[in-house]
Amino acid sequence: MATEPFFQTKQPNKLSPPKGAKKELSCLSCGLHLQVKSPRMEPFGEFGKGILNVGEAPGEVEDEKGKQWQGPAGHALQEAYTQLGIDLFADCLNINAVNCRPVDEKGNNRAPTSNEIACCRQRVLQVIDQYKPQSIVLLGGVAVQSVLGFRWKKDPGGITRWRGFSIPDRYFKSWIFPTFHPSYVERSGDKREAKTVWMRDLKHIAQTFTSPFPQFREEEKCIEVISDLSALLTIQNGWASFDYETTGLKPHSAGHRIVCVTVADAVDHCFSFILPESKNERSPFLSFLGNKQVGKIAHNTKFERIWSETRLRQPVEGQVWDTMLAAHVLDNRPDITGLKFQAYVNFGIVGYADEITPYLKTKEENNANAKNQIEELLAQPGGKHKLLTYCGLDGIFTYQLAMKQMRLLK
Ligand code: URA
Repeated sequence: MATEPFFQTKQPNKLSPPKGAKKELSCLSCGLHLQVKSPRMEPFGEFGKGILNVGEAPGEVEDEKGKQWQGPAGHALQEAYTQLGIDLFADCLNINAVNCRPVDEKGNNRAPTSNEIACCRQRVLQVIDQYKPQSIVLLGGVAVQSVLGFRWKKDPGGITRWRGFSIPDRYFKSWIFPTFHPSYVERSGDKREAKTVWMRDLKHIAQTFTSPFPQFREEEKCIEVISDLSALLTIQNGWASFDYETTGLKPHSAGHRIVCVTVADAVDHCFSFILPESKNERSPFLSFLGNKQVGKIAHNTKFERIWSETRLRQPVEGQVWDTMLAAHVLDNRPDITGLKFQAYVNFGIVGYADEITPYLKTKEENNANAKNQIEELLAQPGGKHKLLTYCGLDGIFTYQLAMKQMRLLK
């Protein structure tokens, strides 16, 4: 596409909090540094294998000694790493999401607040920018909040949602490995199970952290915007993912329509188009849907199927793969099968939908038949281009995801 790219599929050169991050919060704003023995603890470790561990916050022993991981949690982590051939201090650099010890009114350790995490984030980002780690291990939910949380519009959720993924994060250009915090493993009521899962995660990290960082294509450049749908007639067999942007969730009420369609026929190519009004102009797309020789892929196929049947009067033939279903088969944890989450954990991209998602919401909260605000987006200057790009990216990521899932599921 010739127009200016506006989605962040391109890797940035310099790390800085993206739009919306609270820039005004500085390291000193939370005031924790005033109460501790070791304020603003410096990163510690020789970083021999290029691993950055991000913990939660210093505890009493760490505050006393002025270095990370000196108490029981550190011993547990050192022991686990040693079994896998990694030395916590010789091979890694260590920081915490919050770098002064948070205490409660009795002087005991307490969990950092979200404000403290936000105030310390600049330091964490600076360390990542300065050391450019090949791998970042996020130990626990607070580390996830610090390093991932600010790039998600919604609460990113706890560590059980994230642990176990190896994320090729394009923003940091590092592998990100979230896993349990060692104190959680030590404390856990079901200690054996937590420890088994943790050791499995760490073993996976030890086997993966040297993997070269993937070279990502700029997916925006893979989108071919068309207005004459006869280009679709080139797809006569093989696989293709397709995706709709519609005026609402359900197609049955009057006035609803499919606005925009993407058909991806390769990991690096898709067609993206506004669905024409006339049946004649639509016909290449209807033939595509009806062609059994083309294996159809979609993320939650039910949605595309119902809209095709209701609004186009055209059944979808040759449905072969549902990436949402396959994501669940591969990993049955809740709240991880959405395309945006899958695009991040598999392809390291976050936020490509942020500009568009407000328009995909309805103003009537409890009405599943209500219209969203997609028409308002289309009426804006540049709105059509944004919608076509967003839809195209969804189609490309769905195709890429399907190919990866097929490999994993053999
Ligand atoms: N717990 C952490 O999260 N970090 C440390 O440095 C020590 C204990």
